[in-house]
Amino acid sequence: MILKDLQLRNFRNYEEVKLDFEPGVNLIVGDNAQGKTNLLEAISYLGSGRSFRAQKTAEMVRFGADFGEVCGNVFSQERDQNLRFVLFSGSRPRQIWRNGAKKKTAGEIAGVLPTVLFCPEDLMVLKTGASSRRRMGDQVLCQLRPNYDAALTEYNRILDQKSRILKDHFDNPALLDILPDYNTRLCQVGALLISYRARFYDSLGKSAEKFHSQFSGGVENFTLDYKTVSSVKDPFAPVSQLTQDLLDHLDRHYRAEVETAQCLTGPHKDDFTVCLSGIDLKSYGSQGQTRTAAISLKLAQRELMGREWGEEPVLLLDDVLSELDPGRQDFVLNQIVSGQVFITCCEPGRFTKLGKTIEISKGAVKI
Ligand code: ATP
Ligand code: MG
Repeated sequence: MILKDLQLRNFRNYEEVKLDFEPGVNLIVGDNAQGKTNLLEAISYLGSGRSFRAQKTAEMVRFGADFGEVCGNVFSQERDQNLRFVLFSGSRPRQIWRNGAKKKTAGEIAGVLPTVLFCPEDLMVLKTGASSRRRMGDQVLCQLRPNYDAALTEYNRILDQKSRILKDHFDNPALLDILPDYNTRLCQVGALLISYRARFYDSLGKSAEKFHSQFSGGVENFTLDYKTVSSVKDPFAPVSQLTQDLLDHLDRHYRAEVETAQCLTGPHKDDFTVCLSGIDLKSYGSQGQTRTAAISLKLAQRELMGREWGEEPVLLLDDVLSELDPGRQDFVLNQIVSGQVFITCCEPGRFTKLGKTIEISKGAVKI
């Protein structure tokens, strides 16, 4: 996939800009707070309909504007295509357009412009809390499987409603009567999530193991383990079995959930662990080992997406190269010789020779 150009209107700190890109490496250079990450956010949003930093769509609309627009021409699936999002500052739903036709869901643009983002926080993802690992997995899985994206959205919606019931039942005890219905639906959709995740993490682990072995000269053995609700004995089991496992677990935690007014158990607590030669990275990994494993995971994400769509996804490296020592920089750069890459940095330095440089200043391109 190649993003040929991008037009932004009232997106973050961009009032109006049009940018042309190279099929290879594009270096986005600028001082702090000029709009480099905003640009990567726009590209990633254009491809997935999901922002890696905004909680709400309206955050992406430029302060004071009523609506914003992200639009781009892409060469993908052997033809020219156009993607366009219109975002509103109020509660009006966003609009999605593909090749001039309005679409209902982001799932309908899946595969046109898949992206993989790599930022400095991802380097420590194996050390931090589970939520950043879940977000990292979801970012890829949602793009790979539109049905997963839809299930995750539904799961989060039901979870939200259930949380409200648990919080409000002290004032309104009758609410507890409808709790079982919510739990059933939550387990049905949750089982679907587990089923997708089990397969995804299995492939991701195998691919990352290969990169890690190249990286470490075959010295360390990389293994990834998907962790879900403890009552699930086999995450590859049929969805009906997974649903039953989740229901059993919720039944056992019914009282605790009602008393603490919290959704204590379910796939919203899922996690994965990475071990190097059997030793858990989260507890025992050195900083170098953790970074190397994180890079292997990122390259694996890119490989899985490339395999799925038959074309390299667009790689977005936000400030990450300058965080790496020269050995790790070279490993990453040698792995990304093909495909389109966007690299942001404050100082271009040794990266200048990699490709086209675009200088950004205060939400505009410096000429
Ligand atoms: P750094 O090198 O520090 O990472 P950056 O170039 O990546 O900087 P961005 O994260 O892209 O900077 O943000 C640039 C600016 O965009 C920030 O100063 C922020 O205040 C501004 N900004 C964010 N959202 C909006 C918005 N909705 N409207 C206007 N400006 C915004
Ligand atoms: Mg930034």
